[in-house]
Amino acid sequence: MQHDLIIKNGNIIDGTGSDAYSGDIAIKDGFITEIGEVNGEAAEIIDAEGMTVSPGFVDIHTHLDAQIGWDPQMTPICWHGVTTALIGNCGLTFAPCKPEDTEILAGMMETVEDIPKQANALSPPSSSTLTVRKSFPQKVLALSNFSLSVLPFDL
Ligand SMILES: [Zn+2]
Repeated sequence: MQHDLIIKNGNIIDGTGSDAYSGDIAIKDGFITEIGEVNGEAAEIIDAEGMTVSPGFVDIHTHLDAQIGWDPQMTPICWHGVTTALIGNCGLTFAPCKPEDTEILAGMMETVEDIPKQANALSPPSSSTLTVRKSFPQKVLALSNFSLSVLPFDL
C-alpha cells in the first residue's frame, strides 16, 4: 500500500506560522510523506472536511505524574490534541526523592491531588503502578512499562 493513512480535505495548520490552507496529508510508517493534494491508495482514509489538522500540542503544565499509572491515555489531554506533556512540575514530581522524604512527598501529593498516600509511597514499585522513586532514572524506567498515548517529558 502506497500510504498507511491519508487525511483528506483538512484545514491544515502546519505549525510553521503560515496561514491555514486546505489540503491532504499522507502518512507512511508513522511519518508524514506528503502534504497538499495527495493521490494514491491508503489503508485508511479520513475525511477531515470542516476540521482542522495540526501538529499535536504541548501541555507545559500538568499534574499527571500519578495519573499515568492508572490512565496511560492521560485523558482528557489526549482528547484535546495534546501529544507531549511536561510532568514533574509544580513540585509534584515522583522522582528524585530521598528515601527519608518519601512519606512527605506522598503526603503532599495526597493533599494537593487527593491521591491516597498509600498508593503513592507505601506500595512497592511495580510495572502497573507509578510510585515515588529514589532516582530519576528509576522513574523513567518505570514509565517505560506503560503504553502511553502522550509523550511525557519530566522537568
Ligand atoms: Zn500546577
